[in-house]
Amino acid sequence: MKRIIAHWTGGTYKANAIDRRHYHLIINGDGSIVKGNNPVSANAAIKKGSPYAAHTRGINTGSIGISVACMAKATERDFGNYKMTKEQWLSMCKEIAKLSKRYNIQITRKNVLSHAEVQRELGIKQNNKWDFTCLPWFSNKILGARVVGDLMRKQVREYIRTPNSAIVYKPSAPKEVKRPSSTLKKGSKGKLVTKLQEDLILLGFDLKIDGDFGKNTELVLSAFQEKHGLKPDGVYGSKTKAAIKAALGEKLKPLPLVKESLTAKAKKPTAGKSRTVQKPTGKKSLQVQKKNFIIIIIEFIVRLMKGK
Ligand SMILES: [Zn+2]
Repeated sequence: MKRIIAHWTGGTYKANAIDRRHYHLIINGDGSIVKGNNPVSANAAIKKGSPYAAHTRGINTGSIGISVACMAKATERDFGNYKMTKEQWLSMCKEIAKLSKRYNIQITRKNVLSHAEVQRELGIKQNNKWDFTCLPWFSNKILGARVVGDLMRKQVREYIRTPNSAIVYKPSAPKEVKRPSSTLKKGSKGKLVTKLQEDLILLGFDLKIDGDFGKNTELVLSAFQEKHGLKPDGVYGSKTKAAIKAALGEKLKPLPLVKESLTAKAKKPTAGKSRTVQKPTGKKSLQVQKKNFIIIIIEFIVRLMKGK
């Protein structure tokens, strides 16, 4: 025999006459095993006119058909009153383990598979078979033929290793999507770097916004870190991120005009790195000075006109 194909009957928890005609083995609701009418050998070389277990469209030769008695009136939305139980599932996997040993069948996707996998794995069209695309004893969701198939093979391998194993394999939780690291350092490029450069400019540092974390960005960031009591390594990690956020929060607080020019002066970055780390431009304080200067001029002109 070449392969084992696993099904469910679409009936109740008890194998009936039709089931016995179509499968070699049927697993009842309580996990007990029922033998079908036809021996496995009847499917080894199918002869015209002689009975065999017709369980899978177009590929019965060399195929052992095993089936779980369950899923009567089940739909993909509502699995109904005869959901496949865990006992049945495990009992089936145990039987597949025995059969694969007896017939020397390797546990691969092409050799030991569910009906729902046949079309994809063997390229033989089936009519929308969904046995097995779900594990009703595990969840009410459709998990997919390959997920369930892989799990079946895993469980079968376990029973081959340890026939009385108590391990029950369940689908693993969906893999967490790994988000790209938010750590930026020299050599980093892209939108996050642009955002960092913008933030540093907002904080009064002089920097070109180019989305390229070069030497300047590194030095400016180091200066920021040193000023905020962080290790000045020029690497933008979670601590630096938090410090920048906090500093921006403070920066965005409205300040009285006069105080603003004072803070701008106070924000002079540490000396020593001044060649590349330029001091804050203090554009705002310049504007304030200009404004004050204009007021003085106007006052002067007014005084002149009054002839004082
Ligand atoms: Zn089937």
